[in-house]
Amino acid sequence: MKNCFILLAAGKGKRFKSKTLKQFINYKNKPLFMHSIDKAIKSNLFEIIVLVTNNKIKLSNKKIKIIKGGKERYQSSHKALEFIKNKKFKNVFIHDAARPNFSINLLKNLNKNLNKNKAVVPYINTNNSTKYKNKNRIVNLKREKVLLTQTPQCFDFKTLYNLSKNNKTIVTDEATLFLKNSKNVKFIKGEEANIKITKKSDLNTFPIKTIYGIGFDIHRLIKNKKLYLGGIKIPFHSGLKGHSDGDVIIHSIIDSILGALRKKDIGSLYPSNKNKFKNIRSSKMLNPVILDLNNNSWYINNLDINLICERPKVSKYRNKIINSLSGLMNIDKNIINIKGKTVEKLGLIGKENAIACEAIVSISKYE
Ligand code: ZN
Repeated sequence: MKNCFILLAAGKGKRFKSKTLKQFINYKNKPLFMHSIDKAIKSNLFEIIVLVTNNKIKLSNKKIKIIKGGKERYQSSHKALEFIKNKKFKNVFIHDAARPNFSINLLKNLNKNLNKNKAVVPYINTNNSTKYKNKNRIVNLKREKVLLTQTPQCFDFKTLYNLSKNNKTIVTDEATLFLKNSKNVKFIKGEEANIKITKKSDLNTFPIKTIYGIGFDIHRLIKNKKLYLGGIKIPFHSGLKGHSDGDVIIHSIIDSILGALRKKDIGSLYPSNKNKFKNIRSSKMLNPVILDLNNNSWYINNLDINLICERPKVSKYRNKIINSLSGLMNIDKNIINIKGKTVEKLGLIGKENAIACEAIVSISKYE
């Protein structure tokens, strides 16, 4: 893996008219620029991420390097290329922080096309009739031949570095540099939702779709098995019987997400007659479901859980379970809640022969 992701976040955003620079405003529950960083990390395509900004920012992830930008976009871009010059990257992706809505699938598609090309750039067409002003004349353009280019764009590092080093004029993206120097660019289909946020009204360009899913699970308690709840081991007299580790919390979360996505249920995804899932840790079962969610640009608004048992007492393990789920699902701790519910010592659960759990999740995405 010899890829580097450069995120340009040094712009002043004059058209945005806000005290806070637009790349740092709160957007979908986090600073706008973090959407791009999180997707770059989740894609697993990059060894490092270079964040170019003129603001003081601290981020703890060791993959992220923060450098100061230049006055103009092309200068910031070149500073980042200089910064990674000796790090032996084969490919470099360059992206504007003002476009937080691209998908991880777009990153993967760009990367795939870079195998046979030195520059790959996403574009969309326009629905507007298009004219071009040339001196005093205005001419019609065929709109299907007009390409509106977006970022992320990706390049063979050496080729881009040399073009950028010799460039002395303002260019608004790296594709322009390639075309100016008569170098080939492979254009691929971009994404309508990948708009550049320029004005405040752009934040509401796409309506948000919010959907919900519910999950329920129950497992019998048996001796000589370890108890796992929410991905952590809990000292107890018994463990949960099941094909996997029987983690009822994770199983009900998986079903709630699959429910929201209308993708059947946990049994269809992990059939119990398949030996490869025998004794699997439930955290491993959760991971592909979260990836699917992220790859399709959904984000979680909140997750609420009822753990139904006489013991163990939820209050004792609440924080540990929430921390564990926050790590496994890559979501903020503050959007997870877990409640303990006893059943007045009634039935299987009351006699500590079983533990049940229900979960409800709310997820959203920009349409
Ligand atoms: Zn289960």
